[in-house]
Amino acid sequence: MTRHYLIFGPPAAGKGTQAGALKEHLDVPHVSTGDMFRAHLKGSTELGRQVQDILASGNLVPDSVTNQMVAERLREEDVQGGVLLDGFPRNVPQAAWLDGYLAGRGTRLAGVVVLRVHDDELKARLASRAEKENRSDDADPEVVQLRIDTYKAQSEPCIAYYLEQGLVPVHEVDGVGSLDEVRERIQTAVG
Ligand code: AMP
Repeated sequence: MTRHYLIFGPPAAGKGTQAGALKEHLDVPHVSTGDMFRAHLKGSTELGRQVQDILASGNLVPDSVTNQMVAERLREEDVQGGVLLDGFPRNVPQAAWLDGYLAGRGTRLAGVVVLRVHDDELKARLASRAEKENRSDDADPEVVQLRIDTYKAQSEPCIAYYLEQGLVPVHEVDGVGSLDEVRERIQTAVG
């Protein structure tokens, strides 16, 4: 049985940081669609040029583009035993696409981790990350608000989708606390 996991959370919930620890715990590679898009931007690839304005605006890249990028990544050798996906799926159509994709390969999700962090804490974290990482999509308060709103409107419904399906354990974890505290909560939840 493969080990395909998801980590969910609003922007600056600590997904990337916690995914780094969780991938060790689960012993699977970490694949972040946000990181993949940023690598394309940095490398000035065709895809990078295509998504540049979308990332800067805080909107989502179209599903067709994102799903294709993920499909290609999931065909690579290192993720055949499983993967920890971070930032994907981001809406219910992507979640349904992923189910179909995995089913076509004779597998399905093993677990979903959801990091819960309230809005005021997110905004404070985004402001400090904007300075440290020089991410333009973290610096503009309107873009930040759009990304938080987009998470609530489009990404949170994925959690209801998985809960309604009842096929995969959904672990909701309090994401406020020290990195170690949150890491331990996640590991306890996932088992
Ligand atoms: P993140 O680092 O996960 O916050 O992603 C940064 C940006 O990449 C997002 O604001 C979106 O523009 C884009 N992005 C990342 N993952 C996805 C996805 N699954 N679907 C659409 N756009 C995405």
